Amino acid sequence: MNQPVPSSAQHDALQRSDELARRLRAQTGGRVLFGAGDRARYATDASIYQITPVGVLVPREVQDVISAIDICAEMDIPLLPRGAGSSQCGQTVGSALVIDNSKHLNGILDFDPAARTVTVEPGIALDALNAWLKPHGLWFPVDVSTAAQATLGGMAGNNSCGSRSIAYGNMVHNVLGIRAVLADGTDAWFGPEADAASAPARVQELATRLRAIAQAEHEEIAARVPQVLRRVGGYNIDIYHPQSPRPYTADGHVNLAHLLVGSEGTLAWFRELRLRLSPLPTARALGVVNFESFYRAMDSAQHIVTLKPSAVELVDRTMITLAQGNPAFRPVIERALIGEPQALLLVEFAGEDAAVQRGRLKDLVALMSDLGLPGSVVEMPEAAPQAALWNVRKAGLNIMMSMKGDGKPVSFIEDCAVPLEHLAEYTRQLTEVFHRHDTEGTWYAHASVGTLHVRPILDMRHGDASKMRAIAEEASALVRRYKGAFSGEHGDGLVRSEWVAWQFGPRLGKAFEAIKDSFDPRGLMNPGKIVRATRMDDESLFRFPPRYETVRITPALDWQTWNVRRNPRTGEQTAPGTGDDRTLGFGKAVEMCNNNGHCRKFDAGTMCPSYRVTRDEQHSTRGRANTLRMALSGQLGPDAFTSDEMRATMDLCVSCKGCKRECPTGVDMARMKIEFLHAWKEKHGLRMKERLIATMPLWAPWAARLPALFNLRDRLPGLPWLSEKLWGFSAKRRLPVWRRDTFLGHAQGVAAHEADVVLFVDTFNNYFEADNARAALAVLQAAGYKVHIARAQSLRGRHERPLCCGRTWLSAGMVEQARAEAQRVVDAMAPFIARGLPIIGLEPSCLLSFRDEFLSMGLGEPARALSRLSVLFEEFLLREQEQGRLNLPLQALPEKQAWVHGHCHQKAFDAFGPVHAILRWIPDLEVNVVQSSCCGMAGSFGYDAHHYDTSMAMAELSLLPALREAPADALVVADGTSCRQQIQHGLDDAAPRPQHLARVLERALAQPR
Ligand SMILES: Cc1cc2nc3c(=O)[nH]c(=O)nc-3n(C[C@H](O)[C@H](O)[C@H](O)COP(=O)(O)OP(=O)(O)OC[C@H]3O[C@@H](n4cnc5c(N)ncnc54)[C@H](O)[C@@H]3O)c2cc1C
Ligand code: SF4
Ligand code: SF4
Repeated sequence: MNQPVPSSAQHDALQRSDELARRLRAQTGGRVLFGAGDRARYATDASIYQITPVGVLVPREVQDVISAIDICAEMDIPLLPRGAGSSQCGQTVGSALVIDNSKHLNGILDFDPAARTVTVEPGIALDALNAWLKPHGLWFPVDVSTAAQATLGGMAGNNSCGSRSIAYGNMVHNVLGIRAVLADGTDAWFGPEADAASAPARVQELATRLRAIAQAEHEEIAARVPQVLRRVGGYNIDIYHPQSPRPYTADGHVNLAHLLVGSEGTLAWFRELRLRLSPLPTARALGVVNFESFYRAMDSAQHIVTLKPSAVELVDRTMITLAQGNPAFRPVIERALIGEPQALLLVEFAGEDAAVQRGRLKDLVALMSDLGLPGSVVEMPEAAPQAALWNVRKAGLNIMMSMKGDGKPVSFIEDCAVPLEHLAEYTRQLTEVFHRHDTEGTWYAHASVGTLHVRPILDMRHGDASKMRAIAEEASALVRRYKGAFSGEHGDGLVRSEWVAWQFGPRLGKAFEAIKDSFDPRGLMNPGKIVRATRMDDESLFRFPPRYETVRITPALDWQTWNVRRNPRTGEQTAPGTGDDRTLGFGKAVEMCNNNGHCRKFDAGTMCPSYRVTRDEQHSTRGRANTLRMALSGQLGPDAFTSDEMRATMDLCVSCKGCKRECPTGVDMARMKIEFLHAWKEKHGLRMKERLIATMPLWAPWAARLPALFNLRDRLPGLPWLSEKLWGFSAKRRLPVWRRDTFLGHAQGVAAHEADVVLFVDTFNNYFEADNARAALAVLQAAGYKVHIARAQSLRGRHERPLCCGRTWLSAGMVEQARAEAQRVVDAMAPFIARGLPIIGLEPSCLLSFRDEFLSMGLGEPARALSRLSVLFEEFLLREQEQGRLNLPLQALPEKQAWVHGHCHQKAFDAFGPVHAILRWIPDLEVNVVQSSCCGMAGSFGYDAHHYDTSMAMAELSLLPALREAPADALVVADGTSCRQQIQHGLDDAAPRPQHLARVLERALAQPR
């Protein structure tokens, strides 16, 4: 096909972009990302918009940014600073050179614990800063919900506000100074106005102009700037004539940094931020107030805040119901309920003295009684139920965000703030607005400061842009009537900049333009935001514009669950497969990523190991989902789904399923990778190494018969090197050792008709670690179970090749062969499925594929029944014990400590808890759970020579360092075959050898008292 000939304007733009990239490469040490895939990954944030940037610079050091600013000034190319890109309003998308601060510019530069100040680089994430501060008893208290990924530069850019803003204020109240670089290269600290006298001439002149602008607008500021804490729209011109109920500075002086806060990258690039810290509260008490009506809850907020709580958060009926429907959350939410309330307010008191906080809880009880609601408060003075309830509130939001269908909750009026006395009327009237437009919204968030998050459900690709504007107009009229702020948390960006002049009036609109021009006369910093804005409903800027289409593909797996339609008003969803999607649901599953950036978190949980070690957008779940979306919608050119770009983007995904569990919208990249690998294989074929690994279950019986031959690779010098050169197996690793004494070759269980449980032994435990399977059999038999060992159906009177879950085939995208293996398992298990027997497995990635991948292979009801009966060894034992059916006396072991690492799939399926719970049954054993992400081995991933360094870097993130702390005589427990291989490879020979839980239990059985 002929490529379209670019117009002369496009040609010029391409030439300029090439020239920019060339100069950046020559004059900076940063990574210069100008390829189509990289630009696509930076074209979106958590808003509804998409604009492809000119290119991306990931600076290694500050000087790189300074050089880039000079080059852009010379070439007249706009600049756009970016942190995590979690903005909801489109602040971080634009046709500009994006500067991504988050990878390298994340240092802590200065810390003064006595003065309680810290100076940081802009790319540090809030959670990283607070983790560093914790040992000092301090924190930076602007606790945004996106704390795991939000950077301090981005938080300052947006004037972000946390759940506890009523106690601590917004960013503007907590920033002491900003060292900023202007578009003309001026590099200076912005702080108290008086200090400007000793600043560079450009800053002195700027300070004079800014004061003149503010003085001219003195009356307008008083008349137009909303007097609410949560006002983040426009520029903070009121620092000269404060309207915020909370003072910007203790003594009333003007701090010029406060004008930069909330400027959304439109005035300057922040290179350093000096922040005020607060003591970390050591005592919290929570009161949950139950209301019979939503209106009453909203009306009460104004009275509750007089008790000076640190947070007042709303949970509405929808979320209560969602939580009650989830077995894990039901007991938590029900502990907070009195009867059947329509809304809850979670009222938190925090400080240093627990007794004082409990006293304040009593004040809340008394207040509610005075307000005519006696007996409406559930008191929670203890930390554990408080934490559990906060988690429910977060999860409720996630469930809402994971709504399927083209209609999605859209953020554009989600942070309007109104004075508390009007909150009840405002929410009532806004609900009427939604109903008039045939949609619905769910309410949550910060009642304490009058900012209630609400997202009406709209379908932007089917013409709901006009509805969005109409709702915005009606909502804004309400906000104005109640003297509120149209943006109380998320800023202006593309969705609200258009409203700035409307809200603040034409005079202040002009004043904002004058402020912008004083800092950035050539309009190079993030143009089109706050002033001189585009229309919010400019469809050409939408991520999903009308007529958005995907290419037509037939996926190898079943994605029809996502191929549905949903009624925005009633929430009713059509049956799977009825959504008319050209990718049969695959594209829709990809589109579930709403770009919130949570997969950039770095400490808790599993997601996303490849991002954690690379800190590259490309190697985050979001980067992958965005690349897939752009490829599937034809925006990366023809055949992009099977392109080298796509392969590079998927390459470091270790299929850990961390995202399946931890992504708020359940993006399941491990499954998407199978789909990609399948398409790749169809187009490009497989390499020898991939084929060898995929077909291992076929040739494994031969290897077990001739182990000496198959083990030669690690016995003869030079062969590891050769295997790396020929096939890409890393010479640095030893391969698993083949043995003659396989488990299935020798083990005896009971006959099928006598069985009360079935043991499924996977390829890895059968051939390489048969002792694990023997131990599991011994433990189950010791507990009195009649164990049948699962085998393939015998066709010719002899045993067939062992059963296999098909995982090795899936890792090469060989879905048809994996399906055939799955079908063999389902067939072999049919008699036991019919009898409802538990089917027990040892290797998490194998057994759990019965509960996951098998269900997407079109195997019907038998596979669903198998999935319901399949359990891991540890899950089975714990369940039996909880139901009082287990008799497994265990005795103390010589080891006094156990260190346990969970396999990622165990964690993804909530099946890791049973491992440490069971280890605690062993007398006198102290159990330490290692807080680790993926071990980095991930099946064959770590054996690949190209992946070796990444694999080891994943292990070194937390797993290996934690295990090096374990005493030499400790037990190390890891149920995953790959995890054990990685741990053994990564620790020295003196370290304890990792074991499967079954081996530990077997020894505890055998141990004499
Ligand atoms: C699910 C969800 C929940 C959220 N909850 C909250 C919440 O509780 N409270 C809240 O306030 N917000 C919230 N947000 C919005 C957003 O997460 C915050 O505003 C966050 O602080 C942005 O940080 P970031 O690093 O992602 O910044 P980015 O989105 O990358 O950037 C934000 C702005 O700052 C500018 N900027 C970034 N770095 C610099 C720099 N070095 N110099 C100059 N300008 C810079 C950018 O140009 C942009 O205009 C939420 C968003 C989502 C998706
Ligand atoms: S993949 Fe999930 S966690 Fe990551 S940005 Fe998308 S929705 Fe958020
Ligand atoms: S499966 Fe694991 S590595 Fe892959 S995107 Fe998800 S969290 Fe990241």
